Amino acid sequence: MDELYALKAWKLRELLERREVSAVEVLESVLGRVARVEGEVRSYITLTEEEARSAAVSADAARAKGEEAGAAAGIPMAVKDVLCTRGVRTTCGSRMLEDYVPVYDATVVQRLRLQGLTMVGKANMDEFAMGSSTENSAFFPTRNPWDLGKVPGGSSGGSAAAVAAGEAVWALGSDTGGSIRQPASFCGLVGLKPTYGLVSRYGLVAFASSLDQVGPITRDVRDCATLLSLLAGHDPLDSTSLPGEAPDYLSALEGGVRGLRVGVPRELMQEGLTPGVREAVEGSLRLLEELGAEVSEASLPNLDYALSAYYILAPAEASSNLARFDGVRYGLRVEGAEDMLEMYGRTRACGFGAEVKRRIMLGTYALSAGYYEAYYGQAQKVRTLIVADFEKAFSRFDVLVSPTSPTPAFGLGEKVEDPLSMYLSDVCTIPVNLAGIPAISVPCGLEGGLPVGLQIMGRVLEEAVLLRTARALEEALDFRASPDPVRGEGK
Ligand code: GLN
Repeated sequence: MDELYALKAWKLRELLERREVSAVEVLESVLGRVARVEGEVRSYITLTEEEARSAAVSADAARAKGEEAGAAAGIPMAVKDVLCTRGVRTTCGSRMLEDYVPVYDATVVQRLRLQGLTMVGKANMDEFAMGSSTENSAFFPTRNPWDLGKVPGGSSGGSAAAVAAGEAVWALGSDTGGSIRQPASFCGLVGLKPTYGLVSRYGLVAFASSLDQVGPITRDVRDCATLLSLLAGHDPLDSTSLPGEAPDYLSALEGGVRGLRVGVPRELMQEGLTPGVREAVEGSLRLLEELGAEVSEASLPNLDYALSAYYILAPAEASSNLARFDGVRYGLRVEGAEDMLEMYGRTRACGFGAEVKRRIMLGTYALSAGYYEAYYGQAQKVRTLIVADFEKAFSRFDVLVSPTSPTPAFGLGEKVEDPLSMYLSDVCTIPVNLAGIPAISVPCGLEGGLPVGLQIMGRVLEEAVLLRTARALEEALDFRASPDPVRGEGK
């Protein structure tokens, strides 16, 4: 049998429920793995071993008494450091919040606690979730467990690397323009961005509030369905939370894809894809056809403008959200200023990194009097056109399929000096956030030994259809490769 740290959550849960292994044994296997590989992978900003140990002991005690221990009990998890955790430092990958200890839990964390959350640590990320490689973390970059010279993707790179390296069994990420799906695809994992409003944003430090969603990063589709079921559902503390409780996504997993109408947006299959990505995506489409789906080309002409609109809207919202970091209410304050304005200026100059400053400037400019209509107003209109494009496409198709990212993981340092090429790595994922629809990334092949992800997009609140499609593909592809460099105990 594989080592415990390498098993899927559902498998571990079976073993735990049959009392064939204890939660403490599972956790020690994962912590042993952390001890061996974390020095190179660097998935975590903060480790919470003690908290995890006491959760594992409670899970074992509950199971020994024959009680229901909860679906997350004894399953070691990484939590992206953008989610507030009571009593545990929450940095957002920023100097600004280096010593910030929240006094409350994000709703998703709270929900998982009720299910026995066993949190190994807070995962590294691009500062305030702005980036696609985790190199914008103020602390250190995370490496891709498949190839330590490559990035794990971002901004939830620490979460994905931890799961791929065996330093956690599943993880929470957040996705504003691709930050769950792209790292999942770079690390050979499953990642899902839920419908806007399905999962609570309460306690998620805001980047762009109209786009942000929390979601799962897991080793397979079944774990993704389980974790999503634990996260989803109405939260009165989030004014954009949708009403109603979420369905049990696990029960909808095995229906297959016979008769499913699959559209392939031409605009997302254009130039810029590497040959291996194109091949893996086309192979998956053939497989879906063999499984009984009807595959044909779709066109969503306004997708060509999605990236431009996003890079107005997201920075505009960010410039407003990040105004709260003023040296007074949260986190860092640089001392020694003569007056308040100087204190604001110095604190923000010192607390934010280059990419965050670039976004604040872009956003402030786009919102400034005289330019507002020309930039922000236009971008909002484009967003509406994109929503309409998707609506139209979904009247003909049940799901839309594309690569998650046009390339596999790129090299560390390769794009840091070139923000535009970094932004381009999200061309396929960003339209989904603008439209508020759900999408999943599922591994569909390898190029040069690195994983390639397939993105499946669906109608609002049709996560079950995405999971069922992804499950059928996962089963047919039988993608079993695993990251060798760290599987062999690091190099
Ligand atoms: N990479 C994109 C950006 O930098 C998306 C980030 C995200 O989804 N948080 O904005």
